Amino acid sequence: MRYLLTCIVLITLLYVSACTKEKPNSHFQNESQKPKNQENQQSSNKDLHKFEKMNVSNKTNAVKTVAQPASISVLINKKYFLPKNYVPKDLVYPSVSFIFKEKIEKRKMRKEAALALNKLFTGAKKDKIYLSGVSAYRSYVTQKAVFNRYVKEDGYNNARKYSALPGSSEHQTGLAIDVSSSTGKCAAQSCFANTKEAKWLQSKSTNYGFIIRYPKGKESLTGYKYEPWHIRYVGVSLAKQMKKRNITLEEYYNVYPVSK
Ligand SMILES: [Zn+2]
Repeated sequence: MRYLLTCIVLITLLYVSACTKEKPNSHFQNESQKPKNQENQQSSNKDLHKFEKMNVSNKTNAVKTVAQPASISVLINKKYFLPKNYVPKDLVYPSVSFIFKEKIEKRKMRKEAALALNKLFTGAKKDKIYLSGVSAYRSYVTQKAVFNRYVKEDGYNNARKYSALPGSSEHQTGLAIDVSSSTGKCAAQSCFANTKEAKWLQSKSTNYGFIIRYPKGKESLTGYKYEPWHIRYVGVSLAKQMKKRNITLEEYYNVYPVSK
């Protein structure tokens, strides 16, 4: 019974937010990477091959560092980390509104993603959906500072339960952004799920090359709870393919679950 309760507590702690640097990530657990979905086996094998080329190695259960961090379709999660010193070379300011005014780091995205985001916001506006950016790029240095502050306040083990280890945040790719309504209401909070903005993102973002990175019902595959506000640029073709197959990036590369 005690063991069971401990397990439930551990599982709950693992499914925390991937976004807000104030309250987010737990850390990975080592898991096997055996494919589960037989239906997608054939294409998954092809994808796995692509993945092996993309990464240093995926033969062990240890944390890995991706070999091509600048790839538009790079997989970053609790097992696959960005290199410590990786800073995207083409960070720019998207020309969309944010819930803050300052021209600071978290407003930036990689150029291709920023241009796609501009189109997405314009498309939303045409549908009378008014969006704002909440948080986009976050550097390794920023994440490290945040994580270290928590370690100081709360101890390393506790900090790991709610804050992303530097290198494991998708925001460091410059391809991810948290989005809210223009009022900022429910920004990066679960109540965002019930808004018309979230519904629009769910149905339309793939048209602009973005995916809902941590979908509902896929928590055990991605290692993160449902985050309707966190969109990730992967390009139009891949985004549409993933939506059609109803798969996450972990499934696309056939490397899941990342935590349990
Ligand atoms: Zn996020």
